[in-house]
Amino acid sequence: MTMDRKKERLMEALEGLSVGDAFGQNFFDARKIIGGWEAKRELPPGIWRYTDDTITAISIAEILLEYDRVIQDELAMRFAQSFDPARGYGPSMYSTLPRIKRGEDWRVLFGSLFGGEGSFGNGAAMRVAPVGAYFAKDLDLVVENATLSAQVTHQHPEATAGAIAVAVGAAIAYQTRQTPLKPNEFIEELVTHVPEGDVKNGLRQALECNNMETKAVAKLLGAGHRITVQDTVPYVIWCASRYLNDFEEALWQTVSGGGDMDTTCAMVGGIVACHVGGDGIPNKWISKREPLPDI
Ligand SMILES: [Mg+2]
Repeated sequence: MTMDRKKERLMEALEGLSVGDAFGQNFFDARKIIGGWEAKRELPPGIWRYTDDTITAISIAEILLEYDRVIQDELAMRFAQSFDPARGYGPSMYSTLPRIKRGEDWRVLFGSLFGGEGSFGNGAAMRVAPVGAYFAKDLDLVVENATLSAQVTHQHPEATAGAIAVAVGAAIAYQTRQTPLKPNEFIEELVTHVPEGDVKNGLRQALECNNMETKAVAKLLGAGHRITVQDTVPYVIWCASRYLNDFEEALWQTVSGGGDMDTTCAMVGGIVACHVGGDGIPNKWISKREPLPDI
């Protein structure tokens, strides 16, 4: 019984994450028409392809459903086996994931990135909302499993902090379905679970962004323009906190900030889905996203 609810929450988060990912992905090749689609709230034409955000989130979801927690060795192999070079991964994944598939040690390969500091790209945070959804009733388990899932590919402490922020955000979004928080209350509650560092400082800065346009907040906090977790997650949490009860508006607002839009929208979509539930994700949007593989 409990397992079914956990699974249902996980699938809702994955639905929101993948729809956000596939939606945001449309806006890269068409910088000039962002304003057009966005101003008219006109959905991008055609079928929306999802990217690495969704594929890696599916891997996490499968591991949770199979083992009821994150098992790092299994997750690393799942990432490697599901690697699809056409899905826009971060540069280091193209060299590392095929080597892991051939049996090399993920700890060594990912630990050696960036002079041995590990990556602080936003890849650990973009795929983690299902972790927050699955363990939504126990924030300690959210933090623990978000950390484990991040470390497989992103061993820098900032990447872990970003993953914790998004996963805890998803969990709090679920917990407050019936008792919504004010935007800054949401961020304040979330921040207490995030380790000290640049991500946490960015979240504190997000608390100061009251009565500001989303585009201005994106400029101030960063919307993933540098593809780092530090300049992605604070903006994402700000967007999610402001539009937690409106899936469509949350994503329109998020994409309006530009930057790393498949990823910002994947994070926001995953968090907001935990609050609005499966029924809060419009069918029209779901049918625009290419179908997900069986999980
Ligand atoms: Mg992507």
